[in-house]
Amino acid sequence: MATTTSPLVVVLLAVVAAIAVSPVQPAFALPAGLPDIKSLTNPWSAFKNLSGCHFGDERQGLGKLKDYLWHFGYLSYPSSSSLSPSFNDLFDADMELAIKMYQGNFGLDVTGDLDAATVSQMMAPRCGVADVVNGTSTMGGGGGVRGRGLYSYFPGSPRWPRSRTTLRYAITATSQTSIDRATLSKVFASAFARWSAATTLNFTEAASAADADITIGFYGGDHGDGEAFDGPLGTLAHAFSPTNGRLHLDASEAWVAGGDVTRASSNAAVDLESVAVHEIGHILGLGHSSAADSIMFPTLTSRTKKVNLATDDVAGIQGLYGNNPNFKGVTPPATSSREMDSAGAGELSRPWRRLLDGAAGLLVGLSLAWL
Ligand SMILES: [Zn+2]
Ligand SMILES: [Zn+2]
Repeated sequence: MATTTSPLVVVLLAVVAAIAVSPVQPAFALPAGLPDIKSLTNPWSAFKNLSGCHFGDERQGLGKLKDYLWHFGYLSYPSSSSLSPSFNDLFDADMELAIKMYQGNFGLDVTGDLDAATVSQMMAPRCGVADVVNGTSTMGGGGGVRGRGLYSYFPGSPRWPRSRTTLRYAITATSQTSIDRATLSKVFASAFARWSAATTLNFTEAASAADADITIGFYGGDHGDGEAFDGPLGTLAHAFSPTNGRLHLDASEAWVAGGDVTRASSNAAVDLESVAVHEIGHILGLGHSSAADSIMFPTLTSRTKKVNLATDDVAGIQGLYGNNPNFKGVTPPATSSREMDSAGAGELSRPWRRLLDGAAGLLVGLSLAWL
């Protein structure tokens, strides 16, 4: 019941004021628990201290990087792990193999070392979905096969039934976001339309979860599915494979639901539609792709809009659901905006996270780090 204005409130008011005068007018969902603007740091920034490490090294922080590799499916815990296992800081043979697989997936030189390009890629914002399931890369580039699609499906290639040509989605959990419902409806209608244009699938918004195949909501922290959100940056979102239909967004992100995200005042601004298009890909059955220009590439740079399906995305979704005879083809990549980054472009990109295999479906996610 303080009657004076605290420094924290002053900071928050300053942030609100800065946004209010921004020419972009982003629909920021200012997180209720946003403690301090300084907290908006890349959760993986400490990885840069590991640049140059290679097999045989022992350096503080390598255990954290092993945990990262584990989270995205590249590394397993030793079978002797205790109830609360943790990785040690030794760069061992398993870690070298994991890094080689990672490098293959992201189009990097397969050195097995933590070279600068690899570390930079690992620090980049990314989706929470795993790239590797049960030790096998699900990303098409991992096998080194070129000249074919780089898209992937989840194990068993689950898809929505052929009888379901129209899927209904409901935006059900919005209490933790300040983005208004009309804006959310517009953003998701646009995101779904990008997939329906390439296939014979149709999507309609339903009024409630009871009427929907797909449910979309904003959640903070631990929200009951084993993949807790981590506040600003870090994990952005995750979704489940068919026919689970759940799509979760981290309520704490500085979402931009309108305007030009590339001109957003915050370096941590995340374009909602870009994340939505990617997560819908998972909802429909697509895994990650090694094609750097694809929607299903695991990483997304902050302050970047990437919403157009690439040739690889179209091939992947049409492989599951068939063609749309009216499809006009992919839109050439925009050159005026910062694209979601590719592994080889030297920009920031982001990796995705662990795929949880279970009766409820496969969990996929999108996380954002910020360099
Ligand atoms: Zn993903
Ligand atoms: Zn969730």
